[in-house]
Amino acid sequence: MSSFKIAIIGSGISGLAAAFRLQEMAVEKKIPLTIRLFEKKARAGGVIQSFFSNGFLLEAGPDSFIIDKPSGLQLCQKLNLDSQLIPTNPNLKHSFILKRNQLIPVPEGFFLLAPSKILPFMFSPLLPLSGKLRAGMEWMIPKRISDSDESIGSFVERRFGKDILENIAQPLISGIYNISPHELSLQACFPRFREMETHHGSILRSFLKSSYLPPKRVSGARYSLFLSFKQGMETLVTALVSKLSPSCFSWNTPIESIQRNSDRQWILKGPQKSITFDQLIIALPPVHAAPLFHSLHPDLSHLLQSMPSQEAATLNLAYPRASIHHPLDGFGFVVPEKENKHFSGCTFASRKFDFRSPESFELIRLFLSPRGIQYFHEHGETETINLLINEISQILHISGTPMLSQFHYHAQAMSPFRVGHLEKVKKIQSMLKKLPGIEICGNGFVGSGIPDCIHSGTQSAEKIIQSYG
Ligand SMILES: Cc1cc2nc3c(=O)[nH]c(=O)nc-3n(C[C@H](O)[C@H](O)[C@H](O)COP(=O)(O)OP(=O)(O)OC[C@H]3O[C@@H](n4cnc5c(N)ncnc54)[C@H](O)[C@@H]3O)c2cc1C
Repeated sequence: MSSFKIAIIGSGISGLAAAFRLQEMAVEKKIPLTIRLFEKKARAGGVIQSFFSNGFLLEAGPDSFIIDKPSGLQLCQKLNLDSQLIPTNPNLKHSFILKRNQLIPVPEGFFLLAPSKILPFMFSPLLPLSGKLRAGMEWMIPKRISDSDESIGSFVERRFGKDILENIAQPLISGIYNISPHELSLQACFPRFREMETHHGSILRSFLKSSYLPPKRVSGARYSLFLSFKQGMETLVTALVSKLSPSCFSWNTPIESIQRNSDRQWILKGPQKSITFDQLIIALPPVHAAPLFHSLHPDLSHLLQSMPSQEAATLNLAYPRASIHHPLDGFGFVVPEKENKHFSGCTFASRKFDFRSPESFELIRLFLSPRGIQYFHEHGETETINLLINEISQILHISGTPMLSQFHYHAQAMSPFRVGHLEKVKKIQSMLKKLPGIEICGNGFVGSGIPDCIHSGTQSAEKIIQSYG
């Protein structure tokens, strides 16, 4: 029997998860498969990258994954990584929001866009009394009739008022997606809130129904809601790569276009040569996938191009504990846009997880805001680092300079779901039906967290195997 040849383009977590599942199913179903992963860089993992330096563990991209979407944890269990998994620090309860250089705890029970507990919210100094009263009127705001998508910003402002948006929801949301909530799609990012409004007419009312309460701890005592690895997030990448044969990987091989031959096979054009495959999995963010379809399907290429990625940048800073005159008694903090800082969030990395710094030292990590990234483009890395050190030193009362700093810039890294996203995904799916043998997965379509990416890569692999007949 001749081997079924499958190419995967992109070896980020989505492409690796797809390759792993293909290999697993090929063994289960005794299908002779040849898998090739094409990666434009010299390493796998995409934005996931961990570094070790002077006893510190520095993450360039993600630092953890959530387990209320099970694909991440399930994959770790299959890879026998249980003993490597570490929870967030169980002694920490809070994250903070910056207000005039002070760190104020996020009110207990505040769930992304809305308060699910009234008392902590009413006593929080984050909002003026008028803002709290306006938020309390949410019960009486009529529900939106239209079915069309709406931005998260418009939803929060319409239901709870501008104060809650600017002081709490905007920094929490921008801390995840790094763009304004006025650009983000409610239906794609938080469909549950839309559902709550539709079914109960009010978010506060629906919080009274237990089924809508935010998750506390999932899966019992053993795991926290977010997990990482003792040796950093790259552990997952290394484990996946080790399960695949080294001959699967073509490094430094950017794929430039896809064509079809008269035998209905797919031809991948790389920098040097063209190679033919039976089926393809494209595990790339939409803007990276777009040029591949340029001549094969211009409309699809155009649509993918219309889903722009977002740049991201992080700065890891290490200090002796004694030079930080703040208790760092939480996971970190987010920064409202109106505070005019060049970063949108800060993680107290050595407090959030064990194994991140030597005893008596602290590691903190900043996420640059769009303003910070613009500053980086205009002034370069060194000036940006200095500016950020200055800003964080004022907030955390840090004396002296960091003993270590590491800056990472990710071009076109995040694919935020803008208003109208789900419509575009539907159109892409219907266009792909006319290109049987191509699956698209990755962070730009159904979800951008690591478990979402693993799920989408796994699903693509399963569809490919099903089509084998
Ligand atoms: C700073 C940052 C922090 C994050 N934090 C978290 C977090 O804490 N938890 C969480 O769950 N998620 C987090 N995310 C999101 C999550 O990490 C990503 O969505 C996910 O890792 C994306 O994986 P991917 O495989 O879809 O894409 P990528 O990681 O972008 O991988 C795509 C791969 O394709 C390659 N490639 C591109 N074009 C071509 C081509 N033409 N030919 C061949 N190869 C190509 C790239 O080099 C890359 O290796 C974070 C993301 C960023 C940027």
